[in-house]
Amino acid sequence: MPTQKDNLQSAIKSIIQLGGIDESQLNPLPSSGSYALIIDVARKINLRPEKPWTIEPGIYIYAGRASRSLPARLERHKKRVKPIHWHIDWITTHRSAKIMNTIILPDHPEQECAIIRALVSTTSSSFPFRRYGSSDCKEGCPAHLIMIANSKRPYIA
Ligand SMILES: [Zn+2]
Repeated sequence: MPTQKDNLQSAIKSIIQLGGIDESQLNPLPSSGSYALIIDVARKINLRPEKPWTIEPGIYIYAGRASRSLPARLERHKKRVKPIHWHIDWITTHRSAKIMNTIILPDHPEQECAIIRALVSTTSSSFPFRRYGSSDCKEGCPAHLIMIANSKRPYIA
């Protein structure tokens, strides 16, 4: 069975095949694009006490898009303290979660769903919450937050 590290490597490879470039290799950053945040969750966290939103430790990928001001958007994602506006903010404001890196599809602000499709077809992954981060998705993704399978938690389709 592939380890979580193997699965993460396949996930990154599949985003690069779509045209993704690691944020560190882009200078300056493009003004628009789709992006994948690779997030390490160190321990089990309950995102909101009043909702059954508990996530297990592991590696998660969130796919988003910005039709303008992409650099400001990415800066915002990395800020720990901010008003909660999007679903993903519940994770990025948590002390046990950390954005490890970001892969950007420059000038392709319509590709967030393509990122999710690529991850589903090339890696062992699962969706922790239906519709999480995808309230405005028009392509029927189960969610825009996906968990990269952990060898301790076998993939269940
Ligand atoms: Zn979608």
